[in-house]
Amino acid sequence: MRALRYAGPGRAEVVDLPVPAIADDEVLVAARSVGVCHSDIELLEGRYIIPFSYPQIPGHEWSGQVARVGRSVTGLAPGDRVVGECVIGADHFGFSISGAAAEFFVAKPSWLHRLPDELSWTMGALVEPFSVAYYALVVLVFASFPWQQGPRHRYQAVFVLVWGLVHLVREVLPAVVAWSRGATPSAVGALPEHRTP
Ligand SMILES: [Zn+2]
Repeated sequence: MRALRYAGPGRAEVVDLPVPAIADDEVLVAARSVGVCHSDIELLEGRYIIPFSYPQIPGHEWSGQVARVGRSVTGLAPGDRVVGECVIGADHFGFSISGAAAEFFVAKPSWLHRLPDELSWTMGALVEPFSVAYYALVVLVFASFPWQQGPRHRYQAVFVLVWGLVHLVREVLPAVVAWSRGATPSAVGALPEHRTP
């Protein structure tokens, strides 16, 4: 199978690897759509927030399809559409353990969530980054009622909202300016052979 592998700092390569074997309690997943996050770039540059080692297969924003299940796995079957958790105990999927930027990769059922049929593979790959934003905004900011819980929560709330606005301006504004000057906007999507009808 083909896989994107970081061999060392600044060294990304597409390699041919054997399809990984699974244990009885594991699932083999066929990648369908995989996003690229700024953290993937940091990993390639040799820095990340937890310890890791090369070679490493990146990819933590993904959607996939169950290809095979171990003998003791229940509740999942080949063909199921899934997305997955990123923080796995002390490890981070796609950073300190192999990620999804390969035709096949190994996961445990407890990391996986079903992707509803009405969501495309590309939308599935956006579940992880969306969840991070949702958690920051809804759980940390609004659900914790920051305005009644002291300066720390007020600080967090203001930080998240301002940082979100900064990113919105930094990333959306150049696209709007380019569009107003005649550029054609385009969105990043799945490869044609991975698109669902
Ligand atoms: Zn990310």
